[in-house]
Amino acid sequence: MLWPLTRRRHVTNPQLAQRIDAVRDQNPESERWLALVEAAFAESGSDGAWGDAVLTILEARPVRAPILHQSQIAVRRRVLHRWVREILDLASADGSLEPVELLEAALCQDDSRLETPELRVAAQMAALPLLQTCGRALAAQVPSSWWEGYCPVCGAWPTLAEFRGLERKRWLRCGRCATGWEVAWLRCPFCDETQHANLGYLAPEEGETTRKVEVCDTCKGYVKAEPTVKHLAAWEIVLDDLATVPLEVAALDRGYHRPERPGFALEARIVEA
Ligand SMILES: [Zn+2]
Ligand SMILES: [Zn+2]
Repeated sequence: MLWPLTRRRHVTNPQLAQRIDAVRDQNPESERWLALVEAAFAESGSDGAWGDAVLTILEARPVRAPILHQSQIAVRRRVLHRWVREILDLASADGSLEPVELLEAALCQDDSRLETPELRVAAQMAALPLLQTCGRALAAQVPSSWWEGYCPVCGAWPTLAEFRGLERKRWLRCGRCATGWEVAWLRCPFCDETQHANLGYLAPEEGETTRKVEVCDTCKGYVKAEPTVKHLAAWEIVLDDLATVPLEVAALDRGYHRPERPGFALEARIVEA
């Protein structure tokens, strides 16, 4: 099947469409990335294409393992092939992997199986609709106290921290499956540092002051943080991440970084149904 290269998917949620336009205006250089995000959320919202994925969860998994660890996920072959082709075309990326292998590598954040940076980015976006489905399906199974810094569903490091509501409770949010988990105010998600002398934050000098970057001087990790009224929608996590690149640059300039390895080396299988 052939898809025209310029084929663009648009989201139907008006708030999301508006936000994409705003981010596009502010960050014209991120157009390529934004097109992938838009396609991925259009796909996530499209009449349940991924909603009937069958998750087989391992009940007796290790205590610190995310829910998807050693799971098997059956996805519809037609949907999988159509969607992976679409996202690779949009990203002008190509690789030797079968769609099922590409999606599995992205799900497990196994970059060694993805040859180029372009393919890694495209693969992460390709996995987004499935990860969102998993996040929704497994939300009720997320332990109410989860002490790890990585996502209790998919094992990724948090994309951002929310300071939620009047009480300013601190929630970490996953930009892949949108899962949120509440954590202590002073605790580094990457190395579990709790000594406040080693934890701090960077805030912009001017302009917007509500967002900041939490930094840890023990492991040099950082995570962006923002106050929220209630939990952010899945797409808000991804777009807020994109819209706060200057904060990221400030952190990198000061020698902070994101861990190279994923939070948890997830082992999961995707099969075609
Ligand atoms: Zn996750
Ligand atoms: Zn740390």
